Amino acid sequence: MASDLDIARASRLRPIGEIAAAAGIPAEALIPYGRYKGKVDGGFIRSLEDRPDGALVLVVGISPTPAGEGKTTTSIGLGDALRAAGAKAMIALREPSLGPCFGQKGGATGGGRAQVAPMEEINLHFTGDFHAITSANNLLAAMLDNHVYWGNELGIDPRRIAFRRAIDMNDRALRQTVLGLGDGANGAAREQKFDITVASEVMAIFCLARDLDDLQRRLARIVVAERRDGSPVTPADLKAVGAMAALLRDALQPNLVQTLEGTPALVHGGPFANIAHGCNSVIATRTALKLADIVVTEAGFGADLGGEKFLDIKCRQAGLAPSCAVVVATIRALKMHAGVAKADLGAENPGAVARGAANLRRHVAAMRAFGLPVIVAINGFVTDTGAEREALRAALDEDGGARICFCTHWADGSAGATDLAQAVIETIAAKSARFAPLYPDDMKLPHKLRTIAQRIYGADDIELSPLAAKRLARFEAQGYDHLPVCVAKTQYSFTADPARRGAPTGFTVPIRDARLSAGAGFVVALAGDVMTMPGLPRIPAAEAIGLDPDGAIHGLF
Ligand code: ADP
Ligand code: MG
Repeated sequence: MASDLDIARASRLRPIGEIAAAAGIPAEALIPYGRYKGKVDGGFIRSLEDRPDGALVLVVGISPTPAGEGKTTTSIGLGDALRAAGAKAMIALREPSLGPCFGQKGGATGGGRAQVAPMEEINLHFTGDFHAITSANNLLAAMLDNHVYWGNELGIDPRRIAFRRAIDMNDRALRQTVLGLGDGANGAAREQKFDITVASEVMAIFCLARDLDDLQRRLARIVVAERRDGSPVTPADLKAVGAMAALLRDALQPNLVQTLEGTPALVHGGPFANIAHGCNSVIATRTALKLADIVVTEAGFGADLGGEKFLDIKCRQAGLAPSCAVVVATIRALKMHAGVAKADLGAENPGAVARGAANLRRHVAAMRAFGLPVIVAINGFVTDTGAEREALRAALDEDGGARICFCTHWADGSAGATDLAQAVIETIAAKSARFAPLYPDDMKLPHKLRTIAQRIYGADDIELSPLAAKRLARFEAQGYDHLPVCVAKTQYSFTADPARRGAPTGFTVPIRDARLSAGAGFVVALAGDVMTMPGLPRIPAAEAIGLDPDGAIHGLF
């Protein structure tokens, strides 16, 4: 069977200028990066301000399982199918991180006949945005330590330096390190933890900023350390904002690429969906909405995490209002939610599909809690059977029914998502969305967390540790209680226990700790241990990647 990379390489791509022209981006507004990638000029984006917005379609998933769901693949298949149906559609996606690419999950450019391309370039260095973000982050870290070294005029308490260095790599050896060893010329020794770049606050800021001014205002607000009296020290105090913005200026312009069927796609920014909000940049989404009539975008992890954050953080901050949500599931993954082992997924099991559908139904309800009409898209695998599809249809009917579309875009491209595209077009035309964030800005932080836990996860309540309660009270006293909350929780379960699949009831969500992302504009609540520097698996994907004699890359997936 052809790999994703084989399919991508066998496809004839069009020069990026043609894709730009089809998307309504004039030649002078496209900054080409090679033949098949380009950035959209910031001045051109500003000139679009007064145009009306197209309709926004949010693609989300069920709680992820090792069986795979295919949100990116479905976003791309849907975008292609909308265009094939005659709609002026565009896709907005996250940029892949090198961590998963070389680790376990692989790339993030879709799969089968539903991919964005050039696959190798997007998955590896692309246009250098993540390098720029890493550099801006580490410039700030260097200036912070340098300030302490040269006399510490700001009175920074070296024991309270919260800011971390970042690298776009899964490297567990950097989780906990010591800096400044050796003689005094290297600075004072202190502990330092590294984050993967996608978990950094600079990445979250990059993705929430509306423009360069907003970017700088947000960078200026990061709390990097505290003084002895507990008062915050920021990049503004360190005079680092200008240089960071200079490093980020070009990166902040969204990247244009194409799907294998020639649909224009903006692929830009890529924050984690646990410690951060998990979707592509506000600039890319807003630009796509100005250029297209329908914009398909994806939120990371399940609807409960990525979807909730997309709606409560990104849409709230950027003033976006989606027209509908598409919840992606696979028959295989639903069987896993019913307890079927991965090795047994190939065997027909309608009963398990019906039981596992409970997970899907709770995610559908979560999106409806925001006032969004919901369409269920089943990303078809060759192993799915008719009896399993019927069992799923019946299980969904129990909640008054969601429109369900069985899709085969992975195997068939746009032709496999015709029904889904039709359902989306009809849902947008019906104008039935009544989007509102889940909670108001002025609700107290613990109450916001309780609201998410009860209404989205199906929990009885939250349980604040004394540390979390103390931190949340402090953020409130410092005037941060108007911010939305970002729950950092396992993505595998509605509970804080990754082993509890399906749709558990009768649980509480323990909130262990809280962190402030003042620049990004949210308070992170940590429910359990959240890995902000992943490690590589025993056999990393990197071992299979290499170059053919002609220099072509193989082994990416
Ligand atoms: P997500 O965005 O939900 O993380 P992706 O769309 O990136 O998922 O898909 C994950 C992997 O699963 C990709 O390698 C893709 O090729 C594969 N995949 C997706 N859909 C299918 C399918 N219908 N059949 C087989 N493989 C699929
Ligand atoms: Mg994805």
